[in-house]
Amino acid sequence: MTESTRIRGKVVVITGGARGIGLATATALQALGARIAIGDIDEATAKESGTARGFEFCGKLDVADPSSFGNFLDEVERTLGPVDVLINNAGIMPTGKLVDEPDQLTRRILDINIFGVILGSKLGLSRMLPRGSGHIINIASLAGETHVPGLATYNASKHAVLGFTDTLREEYRGTGVHFSSVLPTLTNTELGSGVTAPALLRAAEPEEVAAAVVKLIISPKSKVRVTALAGFISRVVGLLPEAVGDRVGRALGSGHVFLDDVDAEKRKAYEERARRG
Ligand code: NAD
Repeated sequence: MTESTRIRGKVVVITGGARGIGLATATALQALGARIAIGDIDEATAKESGTARGFEFCGKLDVADPSSFGNFLDEVERTLGPVDVLINNAGIMPTGKLVDEPDQLTRRILDINIFGVILGSKLGLSRMLPRGSGHIINIASLAGETHVPGLATYNASKHAVLGFTDTLREEYRGTGVHFSSVLPTLTNTELGSGVTAPALLRAAEPEEVAAAVVKLIISPKSKVRVTALAGFISRVVGLLPEAVGDRVGRALGSGHVFLDDVDAEKRKAYEERARRG
């Protein structure tokens, strides 16, 4: 069976699909014949991006709001039919030291990056389980298996997504519903604006993450790391004794990439959007 025959006709929902990794993934899947629904808190950009590419459904979605998420999925299913694949991609990444992070922002990161993923997985499952088929793909991050100064709450949220997704994979084993996590390295989207990847670890392009998601849908597995090199380093560092691993992390620049090295001017617009929604 070819790539496109495994994907053609599938109804795929992508949260946070107005731009970045979500939009690249929607575009790649549509090219293989999937029927795409994107939802985003930024409705205007979702409609603009979706209409330009001919996606079958684009609408307003706040993943942190249960009624918004439930209504969105109901509307997608009424329009396109049962959801085959749900990609919980929406996420925010404010940077800075924890003491400077207002409580409201801490709550917002957890609401979108964790509660939104849990809610989406629950809503997706309740639709997929009775049909005995479906695939829920949660976009985590390599920050979910590492620790990076300047990203403490974000790190916590992505660690949570990995533990959550692995647990569901076991809890629903044999039901026909698959669970996968995607762990991108720093990727060239607005979320990473003003941040420069260390020399050894180039940033990924959103299309590379999209290609990894396509492969996951064709052949489900528990997780995929992007890029392969960053994923390999992340796993090796995780196996080292803590003090050695921390030293390797610091040698790779982890101590300043998301703090002193950030170009605040280039990052300003993103930080404002992430805080505002
Ligand atoms: P992005 O900012 O380019 O796009 C994210 C989209 O999510 C935006 O369109 C935004 O409006 C939307 N969104 C935010 N809050 C929302 C909400 N409450 N409900 C619905 N939509 C909402 O970011 P991206 O880089 O494409 O990130 C996508 C995912 O990939 C995130 O989960 C992010 O944590 C993860 N990720 C990104 C990188 C990176 O470096 N770019 C690396 C690893 C993981």
